Amino acid sequence: MKLISLRQLLDHAADSGYGVPAFNISNMEQGIAIMNSAKKCDSPVILQASLNVRNRYAGDQMIVAIVNALAKMYPNNPICLHQDHGHTESACVSAVSSGFTSAMMDGSLMSDGKTPSSYSYNVDITSRVSQIAHWTGASIEGELGVLGSLESGEASDEDGSGAVGKLDKEQLLTDPDEAADFVKKTKVDALAIACGTSHGANKFTREPDDNILSINQIKAIHERLPDTHLVMHGSSSVPQSLQEMINEYGGDMPQTWGVPVSEIERGIKYGVRKVNIDTDCRMAMSGAMRRFAKLNPKVFDPREFILASMKELEKLVSDRFERFGTAGNAKKIHPISLAEMADRYADGAFEPRVKAA
Ligand SMILES: [Zn+2]
Repeated sequence: MKLISLRQLLDHAADSGYGVPAFNISNMEQGIAIMNSAKKCDSPVILQASLNVRNRYAGDQMIVAIVNALAKMYPNNPICLHQDHGHTESACVSAVSSGFTSAMMDGSLMSDGKTPSSYSYNVDITSRVSQIAHWTGASIEGELGVLGSLESGEASDEDGSGAVGKLDKEQLLTDPDEAADFVKKTKVDALAIACGTSHGANKFTREPDDNILSINQIKAIHERLPDTHLVMHGSSSVPQSLQEMINEYGGDMPQTWGVPVSEIERGIKYGVRKVNIDTDCRMAMSGAMRRFAKLNPKVFDPREFILASMKELEKLVSDRFERFGTAGNAKKIHPISLAEMADRYADGAFEPRVKAA
């Protein structure tokens, strides 16, 4: 099966009322594990790569080749290949021209990936990139608001993206009216919003309530923008069981809290269609490797370690496909080529619809 665009996948998710986890990958093994789960659950898939993966770890040729091979190996599961957090025009345009079917133009930060930008800068760069991507049929995710903790006012860096300095509450919670204006001007296909989640493992110092994780903000944005696909970043759940596994087998991970899966399920009711998950996958794989190493001191074949970690990742991924309602939808999606998508953009079929305030 050919790769599909984010727009096609999220339109389907919105029509059927489900969310799609977007898993970060940097290698073949993560890709195979995620696709094994997708096959078992009959789920469509979003695989995303960070700029660090593209530029410093695997390289574009490798990532694009892996994902295209996966598309052939798992012909019944539509896959979208998405660039996570591009901070420049070139990051997004080069992704699309390398074979990605979607990119995130994160103009909430300047090109250094650290300094919060102004609203007009964000509108300007995002609308330019979205126009270019749409000429090719690829999709664009924008971001309004800055990801960071409502507890500390600080963000953490993950894979080269993360604000520095103190952020105020206005930056940390996306404003619904501004979101409506932003989507109308930039014509993004999906909008990442800030609601108190942040990247990495240390999201909350306690079980989150609505003061520090504002699902109500998502609800307010969805009421203003009912047709816009919302994206939750930093949405790993940092499961207690994985923290315990890591620590039991030689790791040293301080107690922390992530976004409960039940809160993500609430978000999906309020228009969240893409849920970014990276930390949980890292924890599942590295925890399982630690456990395997400790329990099997005589084994030195690296494949055994990796296979054990893939099995743990598969469990996590299948759970998210089931809980987000993604399972059972792969066969209902009939891939639309990027050329066809480009025609639809040109015809004005995807003009953003904004509900009056
Ligand atoms: Zn993110």
